[in-house]
Amino acid sequence: GGNGFAFFEAHMQADVRDQLDLARELRAALDGEAGAGRLQLHYQPKVDGSSNEIAGVEALLRWQHPLRGPVGPAAVIPVAERFGLIVALGEWVIAEACRQLAAWRSDGLTMRVAINLSVQQLRQPEALLQRFEEALARYRIDARQLTCEITESVAMADAAATEAVLQHLGALGLALSIDDFGTGYSSLAYLRRLPVSQLKIDRSFVQDLETSADARAIVKAVVELAHALSLEVVAEGVETTGQAAVLRGMRCDKLQGYLFGRPMPAEELARWAKDTPA
Ligand code: C2E
Ligand code: CA
Ligand code: CA
Ligand code: CA
Repeated sequence: GGNGFAFFEAHMQADVRDQLDLARELRAALDGEAGAGRLQLHYQPKVDGSSNEIAGVEALLRWQHPLRGPVGPAAVIPVAERFGLIVALGEWVIAEACRQLAAWRSDGLTMRVAINLSVQQLRQPEALLQRFEEALARYRIDARQLTCEITESVAMADAAATEAVLQHLGALGLALSIDDFGTGYSSLAYLRRLPVSQLKIDRSFVQDLETSADARAIVKAVVELAHALSLEVVAEGVETTGQAAVLRGMRCDKLQGYLFGRPMPAEELARWAKDTPA
């Protein structure tokens, strides 16, 4: 950190310098420095396809920046990955999700939370496992309340290494989900070997369900494949009642998207969960 960057900085392009500024500010936010803004997780409901009950939530990173305003994960995550902050950020996410589960439990709300893992966290498996163990113990959380979402491209990138770390996470009791499914090129043989319990169909397919026969065919095939492998299927990015109807017709297990609820702060999610009729 600090002044070691100064020499290189003089030779950098403006956009890289911007990213470096953001990285420094993120470091400060992670350290809890005053004026660095607040990191938060927002929670988006996943609902059961047949009962409409809340089936869990996905934790999504938010950063209220004092000068820039809200900075979304699409800007934060690549910067964190590039400047070596993603492991620290990921550790904060794990601890914060467990802290929130304990807080909800005190309010009488039992919840399941899915968190997103970055490829670099999987490359340090010992540290990752230890952080999960620490957070679960500290907040007395049952590992089965946590799901790790790993994108399909990440899961397929380094098959042997990924398989090993997923086996360890699964052995801890965590559920594993393949995110953005359909956008990568999975080998089915490999998929079968991974201890995953869930596939999440990417929003790009869900978006086109009402207008594209191809999208419908792909989604239908993924749902059938998943069920044949005894995996649960979640559709992300559901925005219309028409999309939800098509997905329900295909027996998609869980639905997630703005139609049901946007990512929201923890207190709001708790109210949402209590107001949603079972
Ligand atoms: P993702 O895991 O695919 O998450 C879904 C994204 O779609 C979220 O964007 C969510 O807010 C948005 N979304 C949900 N429902 C709808 C909908 O109905 N319509 C539309 N148009 N969008 C919807 P967000 O929060 O900006 O996150 C973007 C990506 O950043 C995530 O994609 C995930 O890959 C990554 N990310 C978010 N939080 C974390 C984190 O804590 N750690 C890591 N490593 N990555 C994260
Ligand atoms: Ca996700
Ligand atoms: Ca996703
Ligand atoms: Ca996606």
